[in-house]
Amino acid sequence: MVDSKNIANELKTPVYFDEDTNLDVLKESIAVIGYGNQGRAQGLNLKDSGLKVIIGNRRDDYWDLAEADGFQVFETKVAVEKAKVILILIPDELQPSIFEEHIKPALTKDKVLCFASGYNITFETITVPNDIDTVLVAPRMIGRGVRESYLKGKGFYSFIGVHNDASGSAKEIALAIAKGIGSTKPGGAVLEVTFRQEAELDLFNEQCFGPAFGQVLTCAVDVAIEAGYPPEIVLLELYMSGEFAYTAEMIAKMGTLKQLELHSPTSQYGSMSRGMRYASPELREAMQTSLKEIQDGSFAKLRSLPQNLD
Ligand code: NDP
Repeated sequence: MVDSKNIANELKTPVYFDEDTNLDVLKESIAVIGYGNQGRAQGLNLKDSGLKVIIGNRRDDYWDLAEADGFQVFETKVAVEKAKVILILIPDELQPSIFEEHIKPALTKDKVLCFASGYNITFETITVPNDIDTVLVAPRMIGRGVRESYLKGKGFYSFIGVHNDASGSAKEIALAIAKGIGSTKPGGAVLEVTFRQEAELDLFNEQCFGPAFGQVLTCAVDVAIEAGYPPEIVLLELYMSGEFAYTAEMIAKMGTLKQLELHSPTSQYGSMSRGMRYASPELREAMQTSLKEIQDGSFAKLRSLPQNLD
């Protein structure tokens, strides 16, 4: 069996497990602002962890859903006033205006702000007063997975970070939130990063790995269909059967090379002998260009222009 604790000790990034976390620092009320993908999952998990949770939202379907799930729901500003810890779980592009109008006016020194993405702090589209504890708890998992894992008693990975530590206990609070949402249950862990690392790598994944992979998939589909194979069997062979998703899961569990053992000798020989044909300096350069635009803030600047908000 893999000894996660020993491996964690070898890494550059601090890693925390369940025994490093304590819910006692979260005795007071938590306001979850937004009841969408992450808001609903994290809110329910925190409540099921025995914590006091209220929801902040506009009056609409999300409000009704939160009430139907058994929460007290308030207008965002009121929820911020009532709570000690505020989880900001609305879309990143909406956060700056909602923060200015509904959150900032209700902030007092004793409160803690928690983001699930480092974007707005990193690219300075939100500026938080220095005397407010500001932390990051960013699950590496979609909201549905956050809830489903919790219900199965399984953990998942999260990044935590500290931007402002006014109280001296910001990190303990971030770790406690990570525990409360279920991240540190068995199989999960928490890695400490900076807001900038989280924001930039998240964008790198979305703008480089994801679309480059999409291009590879499209190219493979095109080449096979042009060669005369029926589209339905091409799609099934390449990804619709779920075999590819299973292989991706094995890559995560076993590593890229080790999982090769699960494939036939012909598959291994073919992949090893032909693989380098696709190593492309152009691909590397394109990724480096996109990463530079992320790091120097030019992507964030373009993103925040009004015509690019939709
Ligand atoms: P969602 O799009 O699911 O958020 C929906 C919530 O935002 C609803 O409660 C909605 O309520 C509220 N909202 C939407 N528009 C407005 C508006 N104009 N004014 C006020 N409230 C609004 O967001 P996610 O859960 O996907 O993302 C939340 C945070 O979590 C982000 O920081 C994201 O980066 C981060 N994150 C997301 C992950 C994911 O898998 N989705 C993974 C890890 C982190 P209503 O419309 O009723 O106002």
